[in-house]
Amino acid sequence: MKLARFYEGPRTVSGLIVGEEYHVYESLGQDPFAAYIGQKAPDKIPLVDFVRSLIEDRKPRAYKLDWVKDRFIMPMVPGEVWAAGVTYKRSVEAREDETKAKGIYDRVYTAERPEVLFKGLGYRTVGPNDVICIRSDSKWDVPEPEFTLVYGDRSIAGYTIGNDVSSRDIEGANPLYLPQAKVWQNSCAIGPYLATTDEFKNPKNVGIRLKIHRGGQVVFGGETNTSNMKREFEELSKYLFRDNPVPRGSIMLTGVGVVPPDSISLQDGDLVEISMDGLGTMKNYVKRL
Ligand code: CA
Repeated sequence: MKLARFYEGPRTVSGLIVGEEYHVYESLGQDPFAAYIGQKAPDKIPLVDFVRSLIEDRKPRAYKLDWVKDRFIMPMVPGEVWAAGVTYKRSVEAREDETKAKGIYDRVYTAERPEVLFKGLGYRTVGPNDVICIRSDSKWDVPEPEFTLVYGDRSIAGYTIGNDVSSRDIEGANPLYLPQAKVWQNSCAIGPYLATTDEFKNPKNVGIRLKIHRGGQVVFGGETNTSNMKREFEELSKYLFRDNPVPRGSIMLTGVGVVPPDSISLQDGDLVEISMDGLGTMKNYVKRL
């Protein structure tokens, strides 16, 4: 099941993507995921079954998907946003190249404990078709297209696309600057929809593609697959939740395997396009703060 939301006039409505159509159900309200995590024990009922119980025999209002997909908003508002790092070999190589603190990325790649960092809260996160920002004091900025886990309570309820916008020069100058290299206004985007877990036979075999458009040209294109990840999603989740009261509806971006070359930095007005198998395409324009 693919859950999406958009503004229908002044109202937020919710619905399901079914083939080439988008089906709006009034009974889903403005935020069916919030209703899901507001239950007593959400993880006891799969998200797909909860949503089915809300729509039962009701008739949807159908739109052509092409008419509404560019107006989709965040499929859910995340509680906390977390990010795992250095989970792909390509990411280790890039971080080792840019840093003055040699060896730390190699060591975390092979260590039992993964890198898990706090990326912010829902209000720093934007949806598809919204603007992502790059810092006013950064010179080297990149999108990070990441397969993203959406948690009900403490287990995975679904998946979406995440963009962990990052400043490579600030992180590269000193690892202690990491929060400033990761957290600011509109530094994270998720969407375009939330796919429930039953949509994926194997989430460790999902193609990930990134394009950066500038002035009508593609200035960077690259791809990877979640099969190139060293870590398991359960392993990352275990470390996130250990001794940690992470609120319901939080998300985790699981690391980046597509890294633009050193010559590429995001610029004001760029368009970032991220596609993943089974998760659609998310587009965001870039604004320099
Ligand atoms: Ca990242």
